[in-house]
Amino acid sequence: MAKVKVGVNGYGTIGKRVADAILLQDDMELVGVSKTKPDFIAKIASSKGINIYVPEGSEETFENKGVKVSGTIEDLITKVDVIVDATPGGVGAQNKPLYEKHGVKAIFQGGEKHEVAGFSFNAYVNYNDAKRRKFVRVVSCNTTGLLRTLHVINELYGIKEAFAVIIRRAADPADDKAGIINTLEPAIPVPSHHGPDVRTVLDVPIETMAVKTPTTLMHLHALQVKTEKKPNKEELLETFSSYKRILLVSKNLGIKSTAKIVEIARDLGRKRYDIYEVVLWEDSISVKDYSIYLYQAVHQEAIVVPENIDAIRAMFELAEKEESIKKTDESLSIGTLEL
Ligand code: NAD
Repeated sequence: MAKVKVGVNGYGTIGKRVADAILLQDDMELVGVSKTKPDFIAKIASSKGINIYVPEGSEETFENKGVKVSGTIEDLITKVDVIVDATPGGVGAQNKPLYEKHGVKAIFQGGEKHEVAGFSFNAYVNYNDAKRRKFVRVVSCNTTGLLRTLHVINELYGIKEAFAVIIRRAADPADDKAGIINTLEPAIPVPSHHGPDVRTVLDVPIETMAVKTPTTLMHLHALQVKTEKKPNKEELLETFSSYKRILLVSKNLGIKSTAKIVEIARDLGRKRYDIYEVVLWEDSISVKDYSIYLYQAVHQEAIVVPENIDAIRAMFELAEKEESIKKTDESLSIGTLEL
């Protein structure tokens, strides 16, 4: 079967990671990426041999800065089977008519509303429902983290009710225009948008509250889940550990903060310290009657990357769910941070 031709529109935090992940797949080909500014990121992409497509009329500005241009963004769209749109939230919705005009499939990110694609995706929960779809939305980092854990609990015990407090990183490490220095910012109104976002993929009653904090490393979730069947801690731990995209860590080994999780990824050689797994503190998991309590951490820059790759495979029926997840996990060395 011919490789699926992929273009990445929006080459920022998520776009550059998805582009790198596509380069690792044997059933996909990266045709190129879009850049709106001829900055150092464009130079690095160019030096890696990635084809760059730019807004019409800006070709000369790029060439003047020594960045080779392969065409306009619209040219890129005409050359691909699918676009991964990783532009800032809201821009994807504006781009959709262009994808429709050229009859290409598109994957949108969590910054877009569910309605933009009409279908929201998480590989563990609804891979099969993404088959043959034209438009798919990969949900946000926090939602992806919540879905992975809730999926396991729901399969085992059925979820009666869930509640999560999301302690949010204020900005990404390279984001120097945003960022809060010495303050905490609660998301008002309550509940936050994360609960309804989870329900676009997994139909369970969940409410969330969120607080932005002055950190760039990871998000932290304090999660409480009330179950239909009585949960068992050992069974829960065993099942969590059978999912490669869920990483169990322990405070007993000195892993007591998000900073220490990042250090593990650095020490074990993860590119850009990307942590694709949702990270659960196994010693935080506590079971009381019909309730489960736990803490988990989410690396916002990386967790949605494997989901984008699986979404492409599902949309083109390149592989069945388990095979796709295995392929993606192997290509990104997911599951190799276990200690
Ligand atoms: P980003 O700002 O890092 O990158 C967006 C890129 O798109 C930038 O390079 C920008 O120059 C470019 N761009 C802007 N307008 C464009 C246009 N019209 N055409 C082409 N390119 C354009 O943003 P990000 O953090 O990568 O977020 C992208 C999407 O992923 C959003 O929907 C966001 O909500 C979602 N997301 C972000 C994170 C995160 O923590 N960063 C996590 C999960 C999902």
